[in-house]
Amino acid sequence: MRHNMDTMSKEHDRKLHIRTWGCQMNVYDSARMADVLCRHGYSLTDNPAEADLVILNTCNIREKASEKVFSELGRLRRHKIERTKAGLKQIIAVAGCVAQAEGGELLRRMPFVDLVLGTQTYHRLPEMIAEVEAHARPVVSTDFPVEDKFDALPEENRAAGPSAFLAIQEGCNNFCTYCVVPYTRGAEYARPALQVLKEAKRLVASGTRELTLLGQNVNAWRAEGTDGAEWPFSRLLSALAEIPELERIRYMTSHPTSLTDDLIEIHAHEPKLMPFLHLPAQSGSDTILAAMNRGYARTQYMEAILRLREKNPDMALSSDFIVGFPGETDADFEQTMALVRDIGYAQAYSFKFSPRPGTPAALMEGQLPENIKDERLQALQELITSHQAAFNAPFAGRIIPVLLDGHGNQPGQLHGRSPWMQAVHVEAPDSLFGNIVNVLVARAGRNSLTGTFVKG
Ligand code: SF4
Repeated sequence: MRHNMDTMSKEHDRKLHIRTWGCQMNVYDSARMADVLCRHGYSLTDNPAEADLVILNTCNIREKASEKVFSELGRLRRHKIERTKAGLKQIIAVAGCVAQAEGGELLRRMPFVDLVLGTQTYHRLPEMIAEVEAHARPVVSTDFPVEDKFDALPEENRAAGPSAFLAIQEGCNNFCTYCVVPYTRGAEYARPALQVLKEAKRLVASGTRELTLLGQNVNAWRAEGTDGAEWPFSRLLSALAEIPELERIRYMTSHPTSLTDDLIEIHAHEPKLMPFLHLPAQSGSDTILAAMNRGYARTQYMEAILRLREKNPDMALSSDFIVGFPGETDADFEQTMALVRDIGYAQAYSFKFSPRPGTPAALMEGQLPENIKDERLQALQELITSHQAAFNAPFAGRIIPVLLDGHGNQPGQLHGRSPWMQAVHVEAPDSLFGNIVNVLVARAGRNSLTGTFVKG
């Protein structure tokens, strides 16, 4: 995250440290919180000990993620004590989904925390900080405010780099029985097309070549278009593709029930739309899908993917899976394994079911012991890894376009992504950073490709 301080009003020179857990939406939110605060005199630091303000942007989709937040808070407490001894102040803020879910309870458990702010309130950070400072008492702001967070946020000044995130949708109405998002992020909200296009053009003008549109249920985006009519998601993708210097468009995370025919169609003919789709199946068993309240059966998921592959045989697919959901039998799990074999994913993420407080699945009968979840997770991950290796192997010897968006450890080494989302390590001069270049793939590993820049 880089911020153009010249254009921001500097009231004081204060240091801000942000630590982010969880999904890309949280990464995006952290960047926007930094945008808000840099206008109020803050600059970013990697060192929490020297920060006047520390924000932990949290995730509680899994138990481990929220526990990590609490152990980080323990470490921060020690920094705060040291700073207080040295006569320096430090404000500790907890943002994101743990903050939204725990609210004031978090202050009871961690009384040295000064600010608890929910997922929809970070545009109000400066006023909340002023309140903490003025009254020397903690502030909790986890209500979903009526005003639109996106409207209230300042225009970004960040140069986000060659590949950037852009949140177009937030919240979810699906209420999958294991998920906290509908409670922590609220009901679905889609940003109007004009707002999205303006932000996209700003990012592209600052050097971005690839945009990943973000939303908890991104392909359910439906909002006012630039012509005043209601646009479906595919129409927004077409409008973004018209931005000349924007070369690649991706989106995540999609819900299978919103993979409509018009969206499938645009994957067939829009070259800027990358041939990669993350479409979480979660399970291959109809019984478990129903218990999860996913809203589709295995056949519907398979049919949607068949239609997509018919239109664009080059599509690479990715998914999320949860193993050990309450009541999952060996036969249910075998259905998941069969689905993975049938689809042949290019990559996939798999997790053990972890009950989240306040969700229906946490109270369901048939909770499974950890050893069964562990065994199933291991079997599934081995299968996914073998598919990933099989997907990557034929790339050896091919020349593919790679967007170089990261630096390696040594000069002359850059990192990037293929159109199919593979990580690619490239021998190329640093001057090519930020460009899409041709790369001759020398080695195709399980997790990444390695190659050399070739001209032409
Ligand atoms: S679709 Fe389901 S899993 Fe995804 S955010 Fe909504 S409720 Fe959560």
